[in-house]
Amino acid sequence: RLRQGRRQIPFNQPGSLTRIYAISSGKGGVGKSTVTANLAAAMAADGLRVGVIDADIHGFSMPGMFGITDQPTKVSDLLMPPEAHGVAVMSIGMFVPEGQAVVWRGPKMHRAIEQFASDVFWGDLDVLLLDLPPGTGDVAISVAQLLPGAQMVVVTTPQQSAASVAERVGSLASSTEQEIAGVVENMAGLTLPDGTVMDVFGSGGGDRVAETLAGAVGHDVPVLGRIGLDPALREGADQGTPLVLSAPDSPTAMALKGVARAL
Ligand code: ADP
Repeated sequence: RLRQGRRQIPFNQPGSLTRIYAISSGKGGVGKSTVTANLAAAMAADGLRVGVIDADIHGFSMPGMFGITDQPTKVSDLLMPPEAHGVAVMSIGMFVPEGQAVVWRGPKMHRAIEQFASDVFWGDLDVLLLDLPPGTGDVAISVAQLLPGAQMVVVTTPQQSAASVAERVGSLASSTEQEIAGVVENMAGLTLPDGTVMDVFGSGGGDRVAETLAGAVGHDVPVLGRIGLDPALREGADQGTPLVLSAPDSPTAMALKGVARAL
């Protein structure tokens, strides 16, 4: 029952003060969604009004990471997004019966994202985060078209080969004229019980990706932070409470909060 978005997108109106960040990655499994959920929760804990659009339509994970089981409610013609941990969230997962997949092609995904942006009562947000699908497919292009003010945040692992993946994200950003706010290196060193740090996924990927992206888009691209490999981060995501809230003083949470404040 998703219709074509009928309203104007409030974030595109002159005078809108909402900062928009699209969290992307070259490939799946690098922690893009985990980072998105933690950044949103950290920003809300800092007193910002935060909304999240789960644009990873086929691989939606925001309801689980926020522990949301409610559906959006309808108030006249608008959908009220469910809230958790101070964050308003919209995800296609809220409409799909448990265990069913979303089997949609690009145009239908485009309309869903358009409707999430235009037909949802977001109120006055300080920040809107979008969890993009991995890669440079249809949805990434739809988001660039629908929300031209969105800046990209690129999540990568420290692996050197991640840099070649970032080149593709960079060429997407330059062709859609999107700015890149920065790079988050996730799954950096694992701190062992004796305090030594093990670089499970190598090192240097964040810097390489940032350099490559800067070349592609023609402006400086900072590394916003490095997030260690930390089982507690996964547990928080699985349990529906982002780590920045359940263990706010842990080194991993501090690193994530640093990224949230750098944006
Ligand atoms: P993506 O959105 O890039 O596909 P996810 O956020 O779903 O990736 O993360 C993939 C898996 O890795 C999840 O099980 C998540 O809990 C876990 N994970 C993500 N980042 C970390 C980290 N820094 N340390 C440990 N596990 C992580």
